[in-house]
Amino acid sequence: MTHNNFEFTNYFKNYPDNNGFYGRYGGAFIPDDLKKAMAEITEAYYTICKSSKFIGELRKIRKEFQGRPTPISYLERLSNSLGDVQLYVKREDLNHTGAHKLNHCMGEALLAKYMGKKKVIAETGAGQHGVALATAAAYFGLECDIYMGSVDIKKQAPNVARMKILGANVVEVTHGLATLKEAVDAAFEAYCREYKDCIYCIGSVVGPHPFPMMVRDFQSVVGIEAREQFLEMTGELPDAVVACVGGGSNAMGMFSGFLNDPVDIYGIEPLGRGERLGDHAASLQYGEEGVMHGFNSIMLKDENGEPAPVYSVASGLDYPSSGPEHAFLRDIGRVKYDVINDDETIDAFFTLSRMEGIIPAIESSHAVAYGIKLAKQMKHGSILINLSGRGDKDMDYIIEHYGIR
Ligand SMILES: *Cc1c(COP(=O)(O)O)cnc(C)c1O
Repeated sequence: MTHNNFEFTNYFKNYPDNNGFYGRYGGAFIPDDLKKAMAEITEAYYTICKSSKFIGELRKIRKEFQGRPTPISYLERLSNSLGDVQLYVKREDLNHTGAHKLNHCMGEALLAKYMGKKKVIAETGAGQHGVALATAAAYFGLECDIYMGSVDIKKQAPNVARMKILGANVVEVTHGLATLKEAVDAAFEAYCREYKDCIYCIGSVVGPHPFPMMVRDFQSVVGIEAREQFLEMTGELPDAVVACVGGGSNAMGMFSGFLNDPVDIYGIEPLGRGERLGDHAASLQYGEEGVMHGFNSIMLKDENGEPAPVYSVASGLDYPSSGPEHAFLRDIGRVKYDVINDDETIDAFFTLSRMEGIIPAIESSHAVAYGIKLAKQMKHGSILINLSGRGDKDMDYIIEHYGIR
């Protein structure tokens, strides 16, 4: 069992602490200029986001625009094929735009509006965060600058088109390797120049305080809904909860509903092609403590101590670190982190499509694969998997690289 004697009753009050730490992880390791901007966002978060007006407006948006609550589906055919364990999925693939990311983007953009900002800024790699934020910006009538490496712009043409159709300004970053890392640097530089008029909207539970906390809290709607729905459907809590971990936002959202329950929790990282550095992005499994992108966590380092190159078949999971709260939950033993490789992921992608009529995102397929593995080990009980997104975005890639099985 992964639940232990750690006291979770006041967990969300105590973590993070006032400086943004979850135990030894987190914080804000940033230049003084940005410290002012982060302090402003933190202050606004504690006043505005806790107000009943803000909460009421966000609740209405979730219901009427995003289509929440998303359902939980029982996977009957898959469960029957595996024996006596019941598998369920929380359907974030049915959240507007097809993934969980819009949950925190709507929250961040609503906060921007309340703060009187005119613009939101972010970087994007595969383009998923850019599309979600462009959607939120269009909804609220905010300007939106998305920084993206020129290599990624070429690779992710459909998402670039979506962002432009939604009215976002896609800013091409051409220096260095012209991918995600350079885009992050360029977006932060722009933010330092423009922070009076805009806010930076981070794409996961990473970055300097208060972002890991804010994104977790906006995503916690997933876990809160899921707990209530699962109890209503089955009369019990699930025995296990599973989610994939890139930066860790869909996982933190789901987990935060169950931390105080007698439920085993599993976070699944991508093992990619194997255990060699550069072939995977399993930071919590193989990484060490270090600071990058403004926060202290567990990260994969190269021989110079810099963020190591990472790989996963799921572009949304190839990040060389994970949110600080995941590092903390790992250390105290509340969440078990494990890995799933590319091949197991692709098998799960086809299994869920064929047996249940749900095409999952390749990211989410990692969690599905682990759920199937776990079901084979457990004699009986139930497993709730967070299906973080739908696989439409991945179909061309799957057909090109794996064909139709
Ligand atoms: C971006 C993305 C992820 C990974 O991000 P987390 O912050 O780890 O949740 C997972 N699933 C989908 C569908 C995504 O788009």
